[in-house]
Amino acid sequence: AKEAGRNQLALFDRELRAKRLETARTVERLRGAIDRDELLVYYQPLIRLADERITGVEALIRWQPAGERMIPPDRFIGAAEDSGLIVPIGAWVLQESCRVAAGWHRRHGTVVSVNVSPRQLREPDFGAMVLDALRSSALPPEALILEITEGVLVNSGVATEQAISHLSMVRSHGVRVAIDDFGTGYSSLAYLRDLPIDHIKIDRSFMPAPGVTDPASRNLVKAIIDLAAGLELSVIAEGVETAEQVTLLRELGCERAQGFYFSRPVPEADADTLIAEDHHG
Ligand code: C2E
Ligand code: CA
Ligand code: CA
Ligand code: CA
Repeated sequence: AKEAGRNQLALFDRELRAKRLETARTVERLRGAIDRDELLVYYQPLIRLADERITGVEALIRWQPAGERMIPPDRFIGAAEDSGLIVPIGAWVLQESCRVAAGWHRRHGTVVSVNVSPRQLREPDFGAMVLDALRSSALPPEALILEITEGVLVNSGVATEQAISHLSMVRSHGVRVAIDDFGTGYSSLAYLRDLPIDHIKIDRSFMPAPGVTDPASRNLVKAIIDLAAGLELSVIAEGVETAEQVTLLRELGCERAQGFYFSRPVPEADADTLIAEDHHG
């Protein structure tokens, strides 16, 4: 048993070292990715359930190293956060998606949601960076939504206070703030009342699975929607994959939804077509 334990430890140690090496290698390759033009932004439509029109898009980063398969964000965002690379990468995503969305907004009133990592909110010049992206793209502040996760606003401490002050500042210019993955992070709800927030996005783990009709999962979604309504926050349901889910969300008074049922995240040119068709067809 002792020997087995030792072997396990050795295995654990080896795995840990392999993982660290892998992360270091990812960071190394990611460092030059912006300059090599390997990063791109995909866009996923946000749909208003009342008329199923596209009211906005979420910008989602992709990494396409030359001659390789596309790398999804879950495989590199963590390393980008740990290394601080998320700061220039996040700024690039914001610039790029504001630039692209400016045209959509001018023509169709489309808004754009951009993910912001907690690490970005620790930068003293975060607010200036956001205002700069708006100015240089000529996207009106009202057409930009920043998506942050609950943790950013809930833990007490200097970092939280700084994040809140950044978000209040950009919000005073008209930018809106959404809580991403709502319901997966923290149990304290007081922050919803007290903090600078406009929207909540219900995490896809709350969507009832296909064929599931038990009242509990329905009531859970209903409770979140009612909570948000009481606080005058608008609700976006994430990860909507079936017509049944759409029907349910509509019954429960959910305003907007996003998910594979409507569209996967697509490259700029395809998003452009989707948005234009939505407004002419
Ligand atoms: P997220 O912000 O929660 O984004 C939604 C994710 O759910 C996207 O994955 C999207 O493709 C996926 N999704 C959308 N609809 C459905 C559906 O109906 N079913 C299922 N199963 N999935 C759906 P993606 O693009 O791989 O992004 C993963 C995460 O990476 C994002 O989760 C976000 O946390 C992070 N991320 C993406 N882009 C950025 C970025 O520019 N900056 C930062 N900081 N994080 C980013
Ligand atoms: Ca998001
Ligand atoms: Ca989400
Ligand atoms: Ca997420």
